[in-house]
Amino acid sequence: MSEPSSGQAGGHQQDKAGFETRAIHAGWEPDPTTGAVIPPIFTTSTYKQDGVGGLRGGYEYSRSANPTRTALEQTVAALELGERGFAFASGLAAEDTLVRATCTPGDHVVIPDDAYGGTFRLFDKVEKPWGLDYTTAPVADTEAVAAAIEPGRTRLVWLETPTNPLLGVGDIEALAAVAHDAGALLVVDNTFASSYLQQPLTLGADVVVHSTTKYAGGHSDVVGGALAVRDADLAERLAFHQNSIGAVAGAFDSWLVLRGLKTLAVRMERHCDNAEAVVAFLEGDPRVAEVIYPGLAAHPGHEVASRQMKRFGGIVSFRHASGEQAALDACGRAEVFTLAESLGGIESLIEHPGRMTHASVAGTSLEVPADLVRLSVGIETVDDLLADLDQALG
Ligand SMILES: *Cc1c(COP(=O)(O)O)cnc(C)c1O
Repeated sequence: MSEPSSGQAGGHQQDKAGFETRAIHAGWEPDPTTGAVIPPIFTTSTYKQDGVGGLRGGYEYSRSANPTRTALEQTVAALELGERGFAFASGLAAEDTLVRATCTPGDHVVIPDDAYGGTFRLFDKVEKPWGLDYTTAPVADTEAVAAAIEPGRTRLVWLETPTNPLLGVGDIEALAAVAHDAGALLVVDNTFASSYLQQPLTLGADVVVHSTTKYAGGHSDVVGGALAVRDADLAERLAFHQNSIGAVAGAFDSWLVLRGLKTLAVRMERHCDNAEAVVAFLEGDPRVAEVIYPGLAAHPGHEVASRQMKRFGGIVSFRHASGEQAALDACGRAEVFTLAESLGGIESLIEHPGRMTHASVAGTSLEVPADLVRLSVGIETVDDLLADLDQALG
């Protein structure tokens, strides 16, 4: 391992250290006074100045910066191999801040045609009335995304990969080239893959978005969001907007996400192991019409996912062979899998996207199949997960 990073040094010195080492050591050095190995939760709104303007470590007011949040932001940057990271009160707060820092009314963005429901609602119901136009495109089809771009007007090409809940895979490297040719930035929502399985900035993306509520926090006990960027000017604009809009992560929430990130690698390995076992089980079951998982050779995004992801993640979707009611019944019968929205926690979750997470896109081009069930495969004993699915399928 190279030198541990100092409090203000960012992730760069740690670029040569392994992912797990960065996750555990970036952004914090044992406290010089007490030796505390973990950053305290700095529950303070303001900071004493040594004479007017004499800030200690740059800290002035906790909307602008807070040491617990700084530790998280530096860890996010170190894990995404970015210039700088930013932590927000939620994934959607991060998204809105990013949009307002990079777009003005009259601009245009391209978003996935199966975007996370909340992201679609943000663009459709909040950013569009503000004056930002959008076009949807299937992220798995690079040419379709290119065709949706309006050169000179499109500011952002927004990518989720894998997408939610249909697990479409976008080619980050190819889409970065397409976006850059048109003078747009490529934004990658890396929530589903997590920083461990995929590092979009190293593939040409300009901005990484996370709902840290999911795998980054990993324990279903916090709502948060993050951004990571590699360009210093863009980082400055984001820092200005983060402070001006003020949707920052609080100290308690920052601490929880930071704690989650330290075990991200081992959790993701187990999520992937269990998801692979679930996929194998569902693939062999006649009650299941189709299993959707990028790790399957037959998945249309398998080849691209193999190139840009370390493994294929913990989210598995499937279509019940007996239709919508059977899919709803399976969600209701599951016991080890908890019927709930969200994903990425240690516990397995099951949900019906059409009636739950994606209800807000019903009747639009983003509507999902009615017989679709989405699983967030947790890290419980795998045999218990398989037995539960067996009884839940009916
Ligand atoms: C949950 C989620 C979001 C929104 O994040 P919040 O923390 O709920 O605001 C954005 N993108 C994806 C892919 C998500 O799963």
